Amino acid sequence: MPTPLFDTYAPPSQIFERGEGVFLIERSGDKYLDFISGIAVNALGHAHPKAVAALKAQADKLWHTSNMFTVPGQHELAAKYCQNSFADRVFFTNSGTEAIECAIKTARHYHFVNGRPDRYRIITFTGAFHGRTYGGINAGGNPAYLEGFGPRMEGFDSVPFGDHDAVKAAITEETAAILVEPVQGEGGVRALPDVCLRGLRQLCDEHGLLLIYDEVQCGAGRTGKLWAHEWAGRAAPDIMAVAKGVGGGFPMGACLTTEAAGAHMVVGTHGSTFGGNPLAMAVGNVVYDELTAPGFLEHVVDMSNFLHQQLHGLADTHSAKVEEVRGKGLLVGLKLKTGYVNKTLAKHARDNHLLIGAAGDNVARMAPPLIIEEAHARQAVEALDKALTALEQG
Ligand SMILES: *Cc1c(COP(=O)(O)O)cnc(C)c1O
Repeated sequence: MPTPLFDTYAPPSQIFERGEGVFLIERSGDKYLDFISGIAVNALGHAHPKAVAALKAQADKLWHTSNMFTVPGQHELAAKYCQNSFADRVFFTNSGTEAIECAIKTARHYHFVNGRPDRYRIITFTGAFHGRTYGGINAGGNPAYLEGFGPRMEGFDSVPFGDHDAVKAAITEETAAILVEPVQGEGGVRALPDVCLRGLRQLCDEHGLLLIYDEVQCGAGRTGKLWAHEWAGRAAPDIMAVAKGVGGGFPMGACLTTEAAGAHMVVGTHGSTFGGNPLAMAVGNVVYDELTAPGFLEHVVDMSNFLHQQLHGLADTHSAKVEEVRGKGLLVGLKLKTGYVNKTLAKHARDNHLLIGAAGDNVARMAPPLIIEEAHARQAVEALDKALTALEQG
């Protein structure tokens, strides 16, 4: 289709008109099982009745005032985020990469107000993804996303994912923080072992560094805990960026911090016109309430276990094509063997009315709505079985 749009995306031919729970539906009525959910966004599925009702009710009352004025929904949701977590402070954003920007600025400013403006460097990891702002691509360090956009930004030191000794060696007098995704999404659906997260926490304590988690993709109940790092026990961050699932499909994100790491961000240090607007807060509060409702996260764990078990069976059946099953909770990857292409598998899956995504490292990525039932997992695995059978070398 000729279009004035940037050619930054190459979508398939399907055009979805509506969503119902775990399904996306074309105008023709053709129904697809959605196992990517807007890339880990539609945590409650499509058109969740409570989220729809909250958004409609807010739309009738007030859309936007900017942060010149108090937005009560922000206070409500921030209090919820802080209730059962490491966090004491919250800044609301419109997206994940803005939450990362806020996290980076907050970490550097912390050292600045503590008389150490020279501590500004941030240790990051290979395969990381932190969004597409200038700060985000520089923190992510993916050469493909950096090339052609001018000089690289100073202050990021990338080390191999999961290499504790390399992190240690990269710490200098100028290091301000360590930034890591507890489960890498974009980079290939790789979970950092719990012991590594605890190791990073320890290193940060020893050296006076701030630990920043990017839970934009792996947070919001995706792994079966509200926040992915909770699995690791004593590994709480000082700062955490969230987005994607927390808005359930309404664009929103947040930067959460401890009191010490965030209290210095006062009037004039940061801001956003739209961040935390009443519409976003109306939905964000519903999403939080659903994720923390009794039994919700237990269901996510049950579904994760079932899906992983099914996928391991599938990987055995197609061992010539599938190298391994990866990920945590309902953020799952199938790494394909050399010669087979993840995007081609996604196409064959679509031919079988299943929507999945692709990630780095030749991984087919799945991030279904958290409300899936066993029957949906079975349906997905059946479609993947057909898709893998159809997958030819090339
Ligand atoms: C998607 C993502 C981002 C960027 O979020 P946007 O809302 O696209 O800006 C940052 N970090 C991680 C881990 C992500 O998965």
